[in-house]
Amino acid sequence: MEIEQKQAFEDLMKNWIPALSSYGTSASFTNDSEVRLIPNPNNSQDIPFRAFFSSGFSRRRELMERQRRTLEERKNKGLPPRWKNDGASCFLCDNVGQAQDVGDNLLLPFNAHPNHVLVPNRYPFTKSHILFCAKEHDKISRKVPEIISGEYLAAVIELAEKYGLGALRNHPRAGMSLPDHEHVQFYPHIISDSSGRRISPNGLEGCDLQPTEYGRDVCSVARTRLDTLAFKGGDSSIEKILGVLSRLEESNKIFTWYYEPSGKNQQHQGLFFLTPHKKEDADRTIGGGSPVYIVSARLGETINFVDHMKNLERHIFPRGMFPWEIYI
Ligand SMILES: [Zn+2]
Repeated sequence: MEIEQKQAFEDLMKNWIPALSSYGTSASFTNDSEVRLIPNPNNSQDIPFRAFFSSGFSRRRELMERQRRTLEERKNKGLPPRWKNDGASCFLCDNVGQAQDVGDNLLLPFNAHPNHVLVPNRYPFTKSHILFCAKEHDKISRKVPEIISGEYLAAVIELAEKYGLGALRNHPRAGMSLPDHEHVQFYPHIISDSSGRRISPNGLEGCDLQPTEYGRDVCSVARTRLDTLAFKGGDSSIEKILGVLSRLEESNKIFTWYYEPSGKNQQHQGLFFLTPHKKEDADRTIGGGSPVYIVSARLGETINFVDHMKNLERHIFPRGMFPWEIYI
């Protein structure tokens, strides 16, 4: 499985830099990206944060503003649109229009999936950062099951398994996301940190799974401070997962999920991790997560474990504190 995943991943990545360049993003954008482990100085049992340092990614807002100004200039000069939705206010609509009309940003053919496209993130936080992005913008506040459907989850799991990628969905109100245009972020599920150690970006090698009262296919995630459940079984658990997501959504709850693909020698694989949040992230500072959160940082910035954990704990339920029994 791992050899097949590695080969499939390498084949997919042959298109990644040309596709990234089609946005006007330099192929060297992620050259100075590195991930460092940030441990808790007061408790060695805590799983270190994964801090992604990248000069490009930390300039993301500035680059998006520049992108907006360039599009204004094109309009002022009366230049014709390059593709459908060229310069649309939602940058994912812009990506989809480019994928449909030109196709130079696509990692898989436009029709490989009926409702989604696979394209690089325009400003990747790390090499191989990909978006699986809905072809249609939506204004629907309840995404399950029309937007987050069984077919969608099955496609995400299939891609994650085929290419050995982790799949993360940030909730639109959890920060670091975009409302009204459904997308999942893919990135390699095992990477090298700045010391050359092979680590999981989501810290899964530090976690343990424990049984719950909700059945053999639902585990609680131990050795993380944040309340997360893991659903085993890939495709076979999709209906169960959709039921939980639907009930969370009906109660107006915010949640992050992450799918970890299967492979050898790792216990936390082929699992769907679900983390509910306490409240909206008004400052939009909470990045990717579930069960261990990823920090995006500027080069040279100091990340303090204790401060960052305090910020997370303001927004996310501590382990054991979420009333799962209402939703499962
Ligand atoms: Zn859109």
